[in-house]
Amino acid sequence: MSKAILAVAVAIGLYNLPLASCGARQVVVDTGHTAESPGAIGPNGHREFDLNRQFTVALSKALKAQGLDVIDVAAQGSPASLQARTKASGKAALFVSIHHDSMQQAWLDAGRSREFSGYALFVSASKPYYARSLECAKSISRKLLAMGEHPSLYHATPITGENRPLLDRQLGIHRFDDLVVLKTAESPALLIEIGVLANPDQEARLASPQFATQAANAIASGIFQCLPAAP
Ligand SMILES: [Zn+2]
Repeated sequence: MSKAILAVAVAIGLYNLPLASCGARQVVVDTGHTAESPGAIGPNGHREFDLNRQFTVALSKALKAQGLDVIDVAAQGSPASLQARTKASGKAALFVSIHHDSMQQAWLDAGRSREFSGYALFVSASKPYYARSLECAKSISRKLLAMGEHPSLYHATPITGENRPLLDRQLGIHRFDDLVVLKTAESPALLIEIGVLANPDQEARLASPQFATQAANAIASGIFQCLPAAP
């Protein structure tokens, strides 16, 4: 290909087409936090990272069962750098980061830990991939609702440290443009808080492999439905 033709092809995106179609069904699965810095700790000692990992193993399996390609970021040890986690997203159809939720220390101190339960979804609205990110968040949330789960909504509380605007209240989808993995992903991206680990009534259920498998299957089927059809 001549330099001039190559420049035109790159400019109009033709040169990227084969790569784009390769990744059209590829999902990057990120396990929140690291073994050394495990994130939230439940009242009975379950570590968020361990629950996140249990979940991403189940999710990767469920996505593969749907016929999707999976890049499991944690398989070779989760990088501490959040930017490094989104490196593989350039050719992917979706980047998804899995977490289990904590809550404001003031609420825990006030004995309110049993008040909050449910899942939460976050997308960046400042990226060119916003439409697909939102579409996938909606598709996932509908599957979680169908499974009997409910959105937590407390991240929208108008206080410092929360205050995440709701893009869809019924589906529990929030806007969070500054979240590093959402900001640096080069594909549609979303972060899911699966449930509230800090709630003593929720911890055992969230830690159970049966729950992880069921919720991972629901999320995988939501992802399958929101991605473009296979070429
Ligand atoms: Zn987390």
